[in-house]
Amino acid sequence: MKRVYLDHAATTPVDPEVAEAMARVHRDVHGNASSIHAEGRAARAIVDEARERVAAVIGAEPSEIIFTGGGTEADNLALRGVLKAHRGERDGLVTSAIEHHAVLDTAHDLEREGVRVAVVGVDATGRVDPRAVAGAIDGRTALVSVMAASNEIGALQPIREIGAICRERGVVFHSDAVQAVGAVPFDVRELPVDLVSLNAHKLHGPKGVGALYVRRGTRLATVQTGGGQEKGRRAGTENVAGIAALGLVMRLAGERRERESVRQAALRDRIIDGVLARVPDASLTGHRTERLPNNASFVFRGADGPSLVMALDLEGFAVSSGSACTSGDTAPSHVLLALGLDAETAKGSLRVTVGRATTSGDVAAFLAALPPIVARIRGAAAVPA
Ligand SMILES: *Cc1c(COP(=O)(O)O)cnc(C)c1O
Repeated sequence: MKRVYLDHAATTPVDPEVAEAMARVHRDVHGNASSIHAEGRAARAIVDEARERVAAVIGAEPSEIIFTGGGTEADNLALRGVLKAHRGERDGLVTSAIEHHAVLDTAHDLEREGVRVAVVGVDATGRVDPRAVAGAIDGRTALVSVMAASNEIGALQPIREIGAICRERGVVFHSDAVQAVGAVPFDVRELPVDLVSLNAHKLHGPKGVGALYVRRGTRLATVQTGGGQEKGRRAGTENVAGIAALGLVMRLAGERRERESVRQAALRDRIIDGVLARVPDASLTGHRTERLPNNASFVFRGADGPSLVMALDLEGFAVSSGSACTSGDTAPSHVLLALGLDAETAKGSLRVTVGRATTSGDVAAFLAALPPIVARIRGAAAVPA
């Protein structure tokens, strides 16, 4: 059976050009980037070039990029590193109710260590109100962390407005832009953000590599100590092949973003319009227009999300319910609850996310397969035990 992969918000297939570049590094470059001999210098050159590429795509300076082991680590470094740097002066963190667990669970962990955490809610379309952020900031706030785009419902956040408020109040602003970079315009020369998390595997690159952008002058303490790599800001021997891949992923995303986002948004809109027209009692989650070009997410009242995912899987479609990290979990998604949905409705969630290889034929096949599956799952739920 032909598989149709529609779960690009969870992860994406590695671009063959990127896989090839990684294999080449693994094969030909074995030096440690900290060694001063020729082998080490060859590895260092690859890391330096990748740093320039990543920086160039978001309008940063190479010295403002710290390579990490992925998006989760970048988020942890941002939150823990900024709060640690302000220890004894400011102990407040403001974040939103719809953050990825990498931010939200880190915030709650910091709370157990004595950090004062304020979580602002969202409106019914999943957008954070900048005025709510302004209201949550006080004289003790060190950091505000609000994501650029939701991995679950695709909602784009008003980070320009939130960043402007942070500037005015003298508070550091971090944005988890793992889903946004490469999908929507993102340039730190014109966005008032101080730290930005990104990774490779949501952009057709490998898992386990990412970066944190840190604006020059931003106070950030080290949270991972060791050999002093990344100018002492993130110790550990560099993942040279992964970093090379991230550099290439960012370059390709930069080159393809405009064309690909228009193409994907058209597929997304066909999915949204098609599902709402064909499936009774379905609603879109997230904002209709202020959303990622690749994200269509829904709730189907009376249908169990994980059951839908399994039934679609049997018919060749890979989609998800909630986020990859929470599915398998029976609790309804914190993001959907933050929209004001009741727990029962939130359980019927389905997220469909397209990618570079998705075709209009894939979308048509999905739209044909979904309605009878939803009807069947609803019917099964309605049968008295
Ligand atoms: C995937 C994702 C992460 C986690 O990144 P990893 O590289 O998988 O650790 C963090 N934030 C968002 C918004 C994501 O989509």
